[in-house]
Amino acid sequence: MTERSGWSRTAALVRALALGAAIALGAAWAQTLPDPSWPDLEPAFVDHVCPPSDNPPVARTEAERARFEMRARYRTVMPAFYAKVGPVPDALLLMPVQGVRVSQVTDTWQAPRGGGRLHDGQDIFAPVGTPVRSATAGFVYRIDDLSLGGLTVTIIGDGYKRYFYTHFDRVPDDLLEGQRVTTDTVIGFVGTSGNAAGTPPHLHFGVYAGDPWACEWRAIDPLPRLVDRN
Ligand SMILES: [Zn+2]
Repeated sequence: MTERSGWSRTAALVRALALGAAIALGAAWAQTLPDPSWPDLEPAFVDHVCPPSDNPPVARTEAERARFEMRARYRTVMPAFYAKVGPVPDALLLMPVQGVRVSQVTDTWQAPRGGGRLHDGQDIFAPVGTPVRSATAGFVYRIDDLSLGGLTVTIIGDGYKRYFYTHFDRVPDDLLEGQRVTTDTVIGFVGTSGNAAGTPPHLHFGVYAGDPWACEWRAIDPLPRLVDRN
């Protein structure tokens, strides 16, 4: 399902205002920046521009073109998020799904999926509506509804790692892009949105690393780093 309740109205309003301001200033688009009340730990990232991707995806449909364009917009602010985080990645990731033990997770890293794809993450099963908390501290980089991924939250944490949480039923009304989160912050509720429709409800949890100056996205397995909360 794609219900985003009050959040989407708030976010849509914020974006509309930002877009209005951007047009007034002559800019093409104003993507949400990380919370300015936090210091820039690595100021060199603030004005960094991501180099073009080696293999830019070619859109085959109008929907894909719009999706790639949106991804490119987020990419323009990724270095501003990198400026806010520390250089050392979290060695341990706290179990994001409430009430699930790490020992209950079946390892499906790189398992074959439809369309010749490999599974770039882990699936953590729980009833619809189960709260999901951030596995690390960080900043909310993106909240979006992706066609395959469904309702998705991406968080940038220390070490320039990107934590991708998806198939949410809904996200909290007060969760906003740019906001700082801790491991206590609820970032969504388990669901079946996107290509999880018709499957048992679960969180898809992905972790991405790679050269931050190249704005590279390289999937790594979250399971070896996952630990129980208590
Ligand atoms: Zn998955």
